[in-house]
Amino acid sequence: MNADPDCIFCRIVAGEIPSFKLLENDRVLSFMDINPANEGHCLVIPKTHVPNLFEADDESLAAVATACRRVADAVRRTLDPPGISIAQANGPAAGQSVLHLHFHVIPRRADDDLLFNWELQPGDLDAIGRLAERIRANLE
Ligand code: AMP
Ligand code: ZN
Repeated sequence: MNADPDCIFCRIVAGEIPSFKLLENDRVLSFMDINPANEGHCLVIPKTHVPNLFEADDESLAAVATACRRVADAVRRTLDPPGISIAQANGPAAGQSVLHLHFHVIPRRADDDLLFNWELQPGDLDAIGRLAERIRANLE
């Protein structure tokens, strides 16, 4: 498994930076986004450090896709949003701010006016932690 000591997500995988974890296995980690675009926004990443989709190996991608569905399903059962977007950015022009491959799972409302390149706004960490517990309880 590759790790980049300067990468914030590798540091989360290594447990050097705290996170609100939702799901973890050999290949994948999922945790709450601390700057949620909407309530319930979370991330799914391969544990191995790859900067983007193009450099990911097939096994990691398959594991991430399966985890995205499980996490999105748990978010759906927890918050019952009218929609859920799965988003993934490659390159700064696409809005990628962390250069470790990640998929966003974002609950959506018809009127949320969310744009592809949304602004990062810090969320309430206590509320995010409580929500992570509820989502974890709904993981199947
Ligand atoms: P992107 O802008 O597509 O690269 O997405 C990176 C995401 O990582 C943003 O939504 C950030 O809010 C999120 N993020 C950055 N640092 C952390 C962290 N320490 N814990 C959780 N989420 C983070
Ligand atoms: Zn990394």
